[in-house]
Amino acid sequence: MPRTVHIIGAGLAGLSAAVRLAAAGHHVVVHEATGFAGGRCRSYHDAAVGMTIDNGNHLLLSGNHAALEFLRTIGSAHRLIGPPAAEFPFLDLKSGARWILRLNEGRLPLWIFNSGRRVPGTQALNYLAMAPLLWPKPNETVGETIACKGPLYSGLVEPLLLAALNIDPPQGSAKLAGAVIRETLAAGGRACRPLIARDGLAPTMIEPAVEFLGKSGATVRLEHQLRAMRFDGGRVAALDFGDDSVALGEGDAVILAVPPYAAASLLPGLTVPTEFRAIVNAHFRIEPPPAQPPILGVLNSTTQWIFAFPGRLSVTVSAGDALLDTPREQLARSIWAEVAEAAALPAELAAALPPWQIVRERRATFAATPAQDQRRPDARTARRNLLLAGDWTNTGLPATIEGAIRSGNRAAALLSQMQP
Ligand SMILES: Cc1cc2nc3c(=O)[nH]c(=O)nc-3n(C[C@H](O)[C@H](O)[C@H](O)COP(=O)(O)OP(=O)(O)OC[C@H]3O[C@@H](n4cnc5c(N)ncnc54)[C@H](O)[C@@H]3O)c2cc1C
Repeated sequence: MPRTVHIIGAGLAGLSAAVRLAAAGHHVVVHEATGFAGGRCRSYHDAAVGMTIDNGNHLLLSGNHAALEFLRTIGSAHRLIGPPAAEFPFLDLKSGARWILRLNEGRLPLWIFNSGRRVPGTQALNYLAMAPLLWPKPNETVGETIACKGPLYSGLVEPLLLAALNIDPPQGSAKLAGAVIRETLAAGGRACRPLIARDGLAPTMIEPAVEFLGKSGATVRLEHQLRAMRFDGGRVAALDFGDDSVALGEGDAVILAVPPYAAASLLPGLTVPTEFRAIVNAHFRIEPPPAQPPILGVLNSTTQWIFAFPGRLSVTVSAGDALLDTPREQLARSIWAEVAEAAALPAELAAALPPWQIVRERRATFAATPAQDQRRPDARTARRNLLLAGDWTNTGLPATIEGAIRSGNRAAALLSQMQP
């Protein structure tokens, strides 16, 4: 068992590795560059809307078993809320049509035989057209594997893959799309119940993890950025934090759980994904109307999903790169018009733009193309006491919370098997 494990990066990959290792009795020190834990999954007080909000709306599904296990370990699984069944209300803003996609619990997709449960305008047989995604050819895109058109595509496949892969689906890796479909639609409604951290990402996923680590004897050092690693033969010998450095004992180990561009600069020669996609979130301070569902899928609009939180409606736009240069207020006004229509707000409320915030995460995830997917490294490195973690490592999933946590768990499992 290694003496001390240094984990670089307090995002969900680093925290999940830390929680596993601390629970197993290892001495763990987490080093985080910024002044907060959570990385791309964080909450902060926003002066413009006058409330604590998340950097972006994050959706989990009941089939995200590693994420749920992580939350159970840190004692906060009860903070995720969602409907009792896999139900997804949708609105087509162009036609005004509203419907609810309702999956049945089991793996046998009975819902596709029920016109009241499936996507309007589709027939059961249409769903067979998705099957090639379950057995994709290596390095093919979604666009090369299935026809990206028609009501089934625009009403289900496109919104699902856009959200999960964060890329315009035809360009996305069919392998990653297949992994998503296997773990969601093909696993049945039991795996597809939508879950959100109603009280915020930090109180649900991050603060309880940091508390768990504290109680387990681990240390989380904020504003402690790793500047360089010093190597001695086949191992990391020291960590250089600028003002201080840490010499590694013979049995000590390092898990590098930083974003890909940071990992590449700390570990020259490492191949990592180099292309990214943005996610844009718009937050509006307004009490959601009583009939507003917790999550609403919106089609034929800039808005893709509307999340209802206490005192706030928040919009997610995945693969939102085209919006990065739009002036902020213009974007807020155009998205607000869609939100007001989708929430069926009375005219006087719709006419007045409430306090708002636009959060644009430029490098929200790596671009889930086949070429970028091929650049994802395994957790093991050429250095015997150095492992990698992060949603961009080769998890077999797109960059998601579930992928980040699985990567942390894998690094922790490999490290537990290491001889000191
Ligand atoms: C707006 C947005 C919406 C999203 N929506 C969803 C969603 O709905 N569902 C979902 O499953 N996923 C979603 N994701 C993806 C999810 O947030 C990420 O997959 C996950 O948080 C990645 O965790 P990570 O630990 O791999 O990386 P990160 O969170 O990036 O953590 C890396 C950490 O390393 C730190 N660091 C960097 N360099 C150093 C250094 N030299 N020394 C020390 N520390 C360093 C960073 O500060 C950071 O804290 C979303 C992401 C964004 C941005």
